[in-house]
Amino acid sequence: MSDTTLLDRAGKVGCSDHTILKERGQREVFCGLTGIVWLHRKIQDAFFLVVGSRTCAHLIQSAAGVMIFAEPRFATAIVEERDLAGMADLNDELDRVVARLLERRPEIRLLFLVGSCPSEVIKLDLQRAAERLSGQFQSRVRVLSYSGSGIETTFTEGEDACLAALVPELPQTADDRPHLLVVGALADLVEDQFRRLFDDIGIADVDFLPPRRSRDLPAIGSGTCVLLAQPFLTDTARALERRGCTRLAAPFPLGIEGTSGWLRAAAEAFGITLATVDRATAGPRARAAQALDRYRADLEGKRVFFFPDSQLEIPLARFLSRELGVELIEVATPYLHRAHMAEELALLPSSTRLVEGQDVDRQLDRCTDAQPDLTVCGLGLANPLEALGLTTKWSIELLFTPLQGFEQAGDLAELFARPLHRKTRLRV
Ligand code: SF4
Repeated sequence: MSDTTLLDRAGKVGCSDHTILKERGQREVFCGLTGIVWLHRKIQDAFFLVVGSRTCAHLIQSAAGVMIFAEPRFATAIVEERDLAGMADLNDELDRVVARLLERRPEIRLLFLVGSCPSEVIKLDLQRAAERLSGQFQSRVRVLSYSGSGIETTFTEGEDACLAALVPELPQTADDRPHLLVVGALADLVEDQFRRLFDDIGIADVDFLPPRRSRDLPAIGSGTCVLLAQPFLTDTARALERRGCTRLAAPFPLGIEGTSGWLRAAAEAFGITLATVDRATAGPRARAAQALDRYRADLEGKRVFFFPDSQLEIPLARFLSRELGVELIEVATPYLHRAHMAEELALLPSSTRLVEGQDVDRQLDRCTDAQPDLTVCGLGLANPLEALGLTTKWSIELLFTPLQGFEQAGDLAELFARPLHRKTRLRV
């Protein structure tokens, strides 16, 4: 079954004027468990226990296993056939697994029970299990739960669900003094760069969610200004707004223009002049411009097609089109949050074909008809498309690589230029 609708003029989101094609058909995406790969590296005293099948264990192991050089901070509690058949009490089994894990790993301070397709299908109540275990291990470890299931979700929703689960745990601020909360997992190096930039601009009171250690959960309240660092944090933003925080409207910090707009939005909220921002960022912007110059010749005029996968598609397309002269054939995204994406849409060329959702067969037809120079897609589609002679970029790589901010703008461009280089070298 599939359904394609020419939805609307996105004029509703402000000054953008894109026609959006909405598709509801077969989808080709990873599940939310994938987020564990970058989240377990970010929160250093957290452990992610997937309650799932051997397939779930394989996914996590193969996606993250190669990066492990110490004791892993994730594992899978396998739901066996007898569990599925109702022959064992899963809650008892889970309690036993958790007790063994915490005995072996006393350094764990925050334990996430991560739901999967099997645990959802058998309706295992992980939230209740987390509450029970939190009570049992009180003072020693906090136990939370979220779903990483692949049923009707895409892989970046795992991070959204994880951070949304953290929001109720955040302490309340003592007063309403304005302070900044940057939300979305960023590489430590990028976080440190942003902290320095905010300081140079004159915003000293900045917290990041998720924090590096669970004991450093930031306090929030009505003075909290939320600046999203990732475009896929719908539930987290909603949970923060319910706690009285204010989301700042901004583009996302990819490329020079996105990073400048992101920093300017924060500055404006703190009554800091744009001239101050421009002065503080002149050096990094110049370095980023120089770095981008190296890749402009490779990318200018190249025709790029985005399949919906990471939810980073629109900010990436904006960056490629405006800063490197790429021609956008189609930009598809799993979900389009019109309010969070308003500033990005306003910057996209109005001729861009935007697609929300997926009907993979139709999309493959459009892609092969268009014969793009570069196709950005999930791992499952990359090999078949390469076999058809198309050049691809795995969108998941964009989540594993530090890409935000001025200093990373060159690396971001290089990620798109590299497959084109490879193709040229193979032809020689
Ligand atoms: S959560 Fe679902 S989609 Fe993800 S690996 Fe497990 S079974 Fe597969």
